Amino acid sequence: MNRKSTRKKRTENAGASKRNLELTVITYGFLAIFIAMCLYFAYFLTFGAEDFINNPYNARVSQFSDDVIRGDVLSSDGEVLATTQVASDGSETRVYPFGSTFAHAVGYNTNGKSGVELDGNFNMLRSHSFALTRLLNDFTDTKDQGDSVVTTLDAGMQKTAYNAFGSYRGAVVAIEPKTGKILCLMSKPDFDPGSIASNWEALNSDSDSSVLLNRATQGLYPPGSTFKILTALEYLNEGGKMSDAFDCGGTYTENGYTIHCYGNTSHGNEDLKQAFAKSCNVAFSQAGLSLDLNKYKNLADNMLFNNELPTKLSNVKKSSFDLKKGDDPVLVMQTAIGQGDTLVTPLHMAMIAAAIENDGIVMEPYIIDKVVNDNGDLVRPYFGDNYGAIISSEDAKKLKKLMRAVVTDGTGSALLSDNYKAFGKTGSAEYTSDKNATHSWFVGFAKKDGKEVAVAVIMEGAGSGSAHAVPVARAMFDNYFAE
Ligand SMILES: [Zn+2]
Repeated sequence: MNRKSTRKKRTENAGASKRNLELTVITYGFLAIFIAMCLYFAYFLTFGAEDFINNPYNARVSQFSDDVIRGDVLSSDGEVLATTQVASDGSETRVYPFGSTFAHAVGYNTNGKSGVELDGNFNMLRSHSFALTRLLNDFTDTKDQGDSVVTTLDAGMQKTAYNAFGSYRGAVVAIEPKTGKILCLMSKPDFDPGSIASNWEALNSDSDSSVLLNRATQGLYPPGSTFKILTALEYLNEGGKMSDAFDCGGTYTENGYTIHCYGNTSHGNEDLKQAFAKSCNVAFSQAGLSLDLNKYKNLADNMLFNNELPTKLSNVKKSSFDLKKGDDPVLVMQTAIGQGDTLVTPLHMAMIAAAIENDGIVMEPYIIDKVVNDNGDLVRPYFGDNYGAIISSEDAKKLKKLMRAVVTDGTGSALLSDNYKAFGKTGSAEYTSDKNATHSWFVGFAKKDGKEVAVAVIMEGAGSGSAHAVPVARAMFDNYFAE
């Protein structure tokens, strides 16, 4: 072989190995795509298809009830919150043993659907009963028993909120910060989901009380002084210090507008921590005026204002906050103390409290814990996804200091307990021009021996946070940490 042909051979070899490489890349590329598709189909068949079919607008699902008796809704501790009774003539009645106590959380199943009855609809219309039983049912033309939805709801917590709340309108939310489990989701005024069909017109025509509205997830309220959590954090992030001094004479006037402390109380000389603990409006409107409004808005956005809340719950409203450079100082002062145009849902405030407890990380709130068959065997578990941090763990530490001071030296002193350690912020939110008419707020959490719970309480028109919302929070904490 001469030199020339050797070179030619080498060139051919190089060309061939290049083609081989291309072929290999293409082959593996297709193989990778094929495997990805297989995995996707496997995932879709397991979970995605269920979520797709479970869409409330999917008409197919309602036909399932021809073959399946709708399954139960259970609390985490095994109480039956909704069940279907079958009469001897085969007619079915949906029964809610706790009446109105779980009304908005469990929801209704006639005249449309809401709550768990909506979110778990598909699960309860499927049956994973023992295969032989289902086969036998097929032969005898008998309906299968649908699967049950086990919720994260704690019957004791829900009943405590319901009873402590009395006849006020408003909402209570309780969340486990480390998991996102919703322990309590209460809204008043309420209704009996068992008799909703016969009361439908009356319930819908009463626009004044909006009974069907789930205030916990859809009620938009001014946050009042609970918003000082964000104002304080932004103030500290912009170089302010816990030891910064303020002087409160009970009122503060700027641009012809006067801010009042609650009951015109004069708080005198105080540092930021004391001003937070006593909920001083004068100090916080001054702190607010010193802020970079664009950064303030960024902080609120990061803390999920103007965002869809990350949760699997249906029909949750977005909270809103809007301030920008150059806005009217009067609006800035009002916003800094939680008035102005800011609106929040109780669920959102509970999520903020939970995130502060959980070093800044939001676990997405969820209410369906698992699906089980009629024998109690697990069909499918659910988990709260980790949304990530909405504030840094350093920020969370600072806020814990401030929120603890509210309990040890401020408006939340009724939460001092030997049994657990409580943190929080009270609020009295004005909602009309009448300064004496205020919503009563409490937002916070408590912990003991590695157990934690976050709550948000709002009582419409009740008065100050410390007088009304705090005792409800106290009842919730006492129940949760009861031996
Ligand atoms: Zn003051």
